[in-house]
Amino acid sequence: MTLALTGHAVARGIAIGRTHLSERNEIEIDEYRIDAAEVDKEIARYRSAVDAAGMQLNDVADRVTRSAGASAGEIIHTHVMMLSDSKIREATEKHIRTELCNAEWALQSQLEKILAEFRSMDDEYIRSRGDDVIQVVQLVQSKLSDEASDKPFENIPDRLAETLVIATELTPGELAILHERGVAGIVTEHGGPNSHVAILASSLGIPAVVGVRLAQSLLKEGETLVLDGRLGVVYADPDEAILEHYHQVQRDTARFKRSLEAVRDVPCSSIDGVSITLYCNGERNEELLQSVEHGAAGIGLYRTEFLYLRGMAPDEETQLETYRTAVEMLGGLPLTIRTLDLGADKTTGPIDFSQLPRSVNPALGLRAVRLCLRDTDLFKTQLRAILRASASGPVRCLIPMLTSVREVILVRSLLREAREELDQRKQPYDPDMLLGGMIEVPAAALAIEDFAPHLDFLSVGTNDLLQYALAADRVDEQVAHLYDLQHPGVVRLLRQIFSAADKARIPVAVCGEVAGDRRYTRLLLALGLREFSMHPARLLEVKQVITETHIPHARAALTHWLNEPAWPGDLPLLQILDRSQQTH
Ligand code: PEP
Ligand code: MG
Repeated sequence: MTLALTGHAVARGIAIGRTHLSERNEIEIDEYRIDAAEVDKEIARYRSAVDAAGMQLNDVADRVTRSAGASAGEIIHTHVMMLSDSKIREATEKHIRTELCNAEWALQSQLEKILAEFRSMDDEYIRSRGDDVIQVVQLVQSKLSDEASDKPFENIPDRLAETLVIATELTPGELAILHERGVAGIVTEHGGPNSHVAILASSLGIPAVVGVRLAQSLLKEGETLVLDGRLGVVYADPDEAILEHYHQVQRDTARFKRSLEAVRDVPCSSIDGVSITLYCNGERNEELLQSVEHGAAGIGLYRTEFLYLRGMAPDEETQLETYRTAVEMLGGLPLTIRTLDLGADKTTGPIDFSQLPRSVNPALGLRAVRLCLRDTDLFKTQLRAILRASASGPVRCLIPMLTSVREVILVRSLLREAREELDQRKQPYDPDMLLGGMIEVPAAALAIEDFAPHLDFLSVGTNDLLQYALAADRVDEQVAHLYDLQHPGVVRLLRQIFSAADKARIPVAVCGEVAGDRRYTRLLLALGLREFSMHPARLLEVKQVITETHIPHARAALTHWLNEPAWPGDLPLLQILDRSQQTH
């Protein structure tokens, strides 16, 4: 009888094969005392375990980079970097020295302290980094242990074609090894959608479902398994109908992937010859590298909130280093750094909001540029860091949540002050760095001609614009049915933005989620959008729709839809636009 289990859908794709249950040897961590005279020897033992772990990870990262590209290798490099983090490395050594205990125990004590810090974070992505720390520490502990094998997964066959590995959890390094052995799919009991193993599975194209509770006990060795990485479901011992359905899905997916590859190297233009620019959204190293690999024109949205969620506001040097690394990774493509957008759904523990008046409705309160203009020291630190990064390559600065032109004028005057401070310090920057504004507030959307003379480019944040235009909170499931790009009011609002920007001759992009959703590509083109910014994983899909769209036909269908009142039973707008491509 078929058994269906559910988990988190993290890496799309279908896998069909036989199960292999992977067991991991748990390492017992004992505590014992050492003599003061043995401290140096114990620290040396600890260092050589860290070095061995580093060598193993570097080796895997190099192999993954060669087989799957720099963005995949980068994920494993984050674990290498954690190994040398002072909170792990130096603090453990200090613990050995002061507590006179063995290295395994010192490392374990340090791990618990770090995990307590991660658990107190508001941000789900940052919180899930705690799992990475556990994995890195366990690798070092395995190197310290006499029992643990040096060869990871020696109990797993060398060839894993048509095999789905079922594990309690996996590290990115282990997943990379499974990939080399040809694994068809993976199921883990632990791990969430933000885990590095989930991100790597996606990069490597391995169908995966994580967080399937009791998978190791409910699934049997060698039984047939169907894994649906889009829905986050696995079917053990599936019946004929399920098997046939998924074989068909596999054939369709393979055809779709081939068609995406076919557009990778062609120019990005519509059937009627309009050239469209595709940027990516991203801030993690692997996202930046993936954007370059997919041929993006640059990064259209580099969110900076992650820097502020780590315990305190980052200083200028820390920011500079982060931005500069991103600039260098892009190899000459522009990096659009968005200034701090905290508040509303992007909450923070570390920055002390207690001194600021509390908002009854934070989404309409002191968030993003409003907060920055209140705390100008915080803001100018960021502006200086962005300016200094612009000395290393093309950087554009983007201001979120603009409401009034007065805010742009204030930002410009703070930028002037920041430049003067850098001049005094004799620190270089690009004097022509472009300044852009995000259009997310409906009133700003209706005043593009007033903003245009003060800004160099615009980027429409549809995630927020829709929530404000429709009065439907973007994170409230209960009103999700109202949050709709096809609402005639939203369609008209967007058309007004693009046509006003065109008249004012100011470039405009969309960087909200809809820009990376291929269902909306044709609608955005018909509305007049010519620059899209999206997650790199979506770039080829959107590009494919662009190359298959005749914009004047789509625009004619849209104009007709806007002018004729819709009747019950009429086709939805998106379907009308798709049909417009066939009937002409
Ligand atoms: C948006 O609002 O569309 C946007 C891109 O910004 P964020 O999602 O970070 O608010
Ligand atoms: Mg926004």
